[in-house]
Amino acid sequence: MDWDDVEEILFDGTKETIKNLKCVNEGCSGNIEYEFNSKFNSFVVKCQKCGHYSKSNGVFYIPSCVKIFGDKFMISRQ
Ligand SMILES: [Zn+2]
Repeated sequence: MDWDDVEEILFDGTKETIKNLKCVNEGCSGNIEYEFNSKFNSFVVKCQKCGHYSKSNGVFYIPSCVKIFGDKFMISRQ
């Protein structure tokens, strides 16, 4: 699994598949955090543990994860 797969799940996944996501950088497995900005149509994905940061612009539909967990959320298994 790579970051493209992670984004695909964040955008189109179910609550369960999103909840199971974790950082895919080798040896990290940290919690993934995302932030959606509907004003700028941007979507940021980050991992605080290893410092991964990626930003997508031109996001013109509401990602699944935003519908389920809100504009900003840290995914952690509970
Ligand atoms: Zn990480």
